[in-house]
Amino acid sequence: MSLIVQKYGGSSVADPEKIKAVARRVVETFRQRHRVIVVVSAMGKTTDSLVALASQITPNPEPREMDMLLATGEQVSIALLAMALQSLGVPARSFTGAQVGIFTDDAHTKARIRKIESDRVAQALDSGHVVVVAGFQGVTLGEEITTLGRGGSDLTGVALAAALKADVCEIYTDVDGVYTADPNIVPDARKLARVSYDEMLEMASLGAKVLQSRSVEFAKKYGVPVHVRSTFKPDPGTLVTREDRGMEEAMVTGLTHDRGQAKVSILRVPDRPGIAAQVFGALAEQNVVVDMIVQNISRDGYTDISFTLARGDRAKAVAVLEEVARRIGALGVTHDDRVAKVSIVGVGMRSHSGVAARMFSTLAKEGINIQMISTSEIAVSCVIEDKYTELAVRALHEAFELAKERPAD
Ligand code: ASP
Ligand code: MG
Repeated sequence: MSLIVQKYGGSSVADPEKIKAVARRVVETFRQRHRVIVVVSAMGKTTDSLVALASQITPNPEPREMDMLLATGEQVSIALLAMALQSLGVPARSFTGAQVGIFTDDAHTKARIRKIESDRVAQALDSGHVVVVAGFQGVTLGEEITTLGRGGSDLTGVALAAALKADVCEIYTDVDGVYTADPNIVPDARKLARVSYDEMLEMASLGAKVLQSRSVEFAKKYGVPVHVRSTFKPDPGTLVTREDRGMEEAMVTGLTHDRGQAKVSILRVPDRPGIAAQVFGALAEQNVVVDMIVQNISRDGYTDISFTLARGDRAKAVAVLEEVARRIGALGVTHDDRVAKVSIVGVGMRSHSGVAARMFSTLAKEGINIQMISTSEIAVSCVIEDKYTELAVRALHEAFELAKERPAD
């Protein structure tokens, strides 16, 4: 008898009819004599509404109270799903994060899982129940309720799968897998049967919003196979798994794009030790997460520094930097919100040469100027003008022959 963890996202449990449909799907698995743990997110956009509600009370809610509030969303959906399962004649029990022993540190709103004491889940499974667990939440050793960061139900699913040595963690969502590119932009984008943990991590951090990054890191660390698939269709989705040899045959596995970026530059910065530390230290103090950084060659003792960041943080970053610029004697700060990042990802880059060059020449052929470049072992990203995003993605998909069938692996 295998143990399967199924995680259903907010859009899959958005209303009572959908919750009943999820229950039917769970029952199907249960009737095939599997043991099943179901992790659910809050219904629909509940978490967003709760965040908005808090902001109507105060712009700076205490993180502890934020967690107290946000954790309620998932508590609603687990109770309703357990009821739906029971009314189909299946014994089911719902549990909060605290009840199933998901212990975290005390970093409210972005807590990290420290350990899982899964005896209670194991007991409920042994007594023939479907176990329904609230995603996204945990508890500190001091019994404070915590949440695991937005999208954290994925992490709950993967962590429970690791703790209980489940055969697979199935992530049910409104897309039916991981694609070679966004199918809304590239009509012949292809669903990938398998991707490696590292590729998925790159894609998640580069803007493909299929899985929360931390859940992929966790899955990689503990070797949990993750199956991303559709709530509404029966077909298999994409298996996120250990790298195997077949995966290296393709030059590139997929491409992602991120249109939520902005670029900020500090002009004529004195070129001496400690300046970059002051600039990025000031941003870090304000919790601004910086993405790509480029520093030009210095001329006459001065240089320019540019970087990208999430567009939502741009105003805050510019305010911080204007102050820093005055202090260090830089000329000023400029910004540009009309930028996007397009990236190619694939473990095959390690063994193929000329991958980056092909990306650059493809963009050049379309007349698209590259503003910034960054690379990792298995990804190359370019910052371009936002209005060329779709053109760039389509051209790259074509250039790397991603629509063609990959060799069987
Ligand atoms: N409900 C939480 C959120 O919207 C957790 C999740 O959906 O995974 O971020
Ligand atoms: Mg959600």
